[in-house]
Amino acid sequence: MTNKKDKIIKLDAVVVGAGFSGLYMLYRLREAGFSTRVFEAADGVGGVWHKNRYPGARCDNESIDYNFTFSEELFKEWNWSHKFSEQSEILDYLNYVADKFDLRRDIQLNTRITAAHYDEEINRWNIQTDEGSTLSAKYFISGAGCLSAANIPKFKGLDSFDGEWYHTGNWPKEKVNFKGKRVGVIGTGSTGVQLIPAIAEEVDHLTVFQRTPQYSVPARNHPYDPEYLKQVKDNFSEFKRKRRYSFGGFPNDVEARPSALKDTPEEREKLYEAAWQKGAVSSFFLETYEDLTVNEEANETLAAFIRKKIREIVKDPELAEKLMPTYYYGTKRPIQDTNYYETYNRENVSLVDVKAKPIVEITPKGIRTTDGEYELDIIVFATGYDAMTGSLFKIDIRGKDGITLKEKWEDGEQVKTYLGIATSGFPNMFMITGPESPSVLSNVPTSIEQHVEWISDCIEYLRENEMNIFEAKEEAEEEWSKHCREVAEATLFTKTDSWYLGANVAGKPRRFLIYLGGVGPYREKCSEVAAKGYEGFSLRSSLKKA
Ligand code: NAP
Repeated sequence: MTNKKDKIIKLDAVVVGAGFSGLYMLYRLREAGFSTRVFEAADGVGGVWHKNRYPGARCDNESIDYNFTFSEELFKEWNWSHKFSEQSEILDYLNYVADKFDLRRDIQLNTRITAAHYDEEINRWNIQTDEGSTLSAKYFISGAGCLSAANIPKFKGLDSFDGEWYHTGNWPKEKVNFKGKRVGVIGTGSTGVQLIPAIAEEVDHLTVFQRTPQYSVPARNHPYDPEYLKQVKDNFSEFKRKRRYSFGGFPNDVEARPSALKDTPEEREKLYEAAWQKGAVSSFFLETYEDLTVNEEANETLAAFIRKKIREIVKDPELAEKLMPTYYYGTKRPIQDTNYYETYNRENVSLVDVKAKPIVEITPKGIRTTDGEYELDIIVFATGYDAMTGSLFKIDIRGKDGITLKEKWEDGEQVKTYLGIATSGFPNMFMITGPESPSVLSNVPTSIEQHVEWISDCIEYLRENEMNIFEAKEEAEEEWSKHCREVAEATLFTKTDSWYLGANVAGKPRRFLIYLGGVGPYREKCSEVAAKGYEGFSLRSSLKKA
């Protein structure tokens, strides 16, 4: 591809991002004969797995579940080493996928898409990149991911800091040397909980700045038994079917008991203790009883169990109390760890409660809270992401009449999509795991595969039926958004400040943007819509052929 500023490159589809989504989207569209190009801002494929290289980074879904199933050959020839693989292994896998399917020739690295404007006159998307290319595409597809726009809180004085600072989502390739350093970590979400134990031994002193204490459960990671992997691979079709139609996108839905309140305290304790000892994906705890996410009293039984465990692990009772979570378990992303609470028993680790004594500013020497100044050599921001919409808003996306996506969603009263795949006013734009789809509250590769297949089938359908405009209908997205909100409001999820609601980013409107109705039922709904000629979408032909 030439990068001449004056040359417009014409393509059928432009895809943002070369993570799980972009790689598979490219594969499917190319197989179907559409000229497609993926643009990736980073210098390698892998998406979040390329950038999240912080110490301790690993998947907290089971490795054998967290991969592609579109190719049986790929599924069978790749061997995961551990139940929860580390970042480098997942990145190796995605590079392997890129090579196996010869995807690299249509991926342009080190190139950020800065703008995508729909031109109604010619029914095409005009796309700009940061290295000056202009592209014209029939279809504009975002595979930018839900958790890729780093959230770096706007603390006063960060520029004045004399030491080094990093955000975990943009970790450098070169090893960060923590040896002998005074390190501050801000944030105790999934990332902080992985990072903190991983660097505690190396640093001179680690100060953790905690805003909300978290529930975390032991991962009990271990190398895979080759016999177990063989068994799963031998049952590939069944594995794939179950993953697609389960509630969470995992092959093994747990048989939940009906209510935590119907069992005796002893029965509950036995069940929770077994889960704690077994170690599992963290969401497994939520699947012990059906009412944990909808009933406050039921939820409290599990929350109290984990609090008791924290008190048992952390030796200093005062410190243990500072680590005590109080929100409804599971309404922030469930976390699993290796020696997280144990790390606070180390002499060189201390905890600062920044809810009680907030961070006031970053100084040349470190971090100042209302309680005093902490001198640091390195600050790590494990402060998460502007989730769901942040990665889309980083691009100047404009639909019909020049309206920006941000104007439509953020200045309007509500983000509105139909099925989380498309939004009215933005014809021929698709979102992979977009807002109001199961996305981050599912096994993400399962949801990515479903969306990619739905989108490529849809684009093929348009070609077969000689139509070239595809757009969500306003009334369909109105209904879908309402349905998403109603499902969420029937749970405890909307009662806790979390990134699910955008509450982690100062000034972001508070909206729950994930569909909680389950992966299987959602898939059926999407298939039904497609089977009815894409009901709820407007499919038509423009006068000028795109
Ligand atoms: P996160 O869950 O949003 O956690 C961010 C942390 O930073 C929270 O403790 C938050 O406190 C704190 N924070 C944010 N702004 C702050 C401020 N201004 N002052 C003080 N503290 C502040 O982000 P994350 O840990 O990066 O995880 C994000 C998601 O990425 C996860 O939930 C998960 O879905 C995914 N992830 C997956 C894996 C995996 O699969 N292995 C690993 C890591 C992450 P509050 O809680 O008070 O907001």
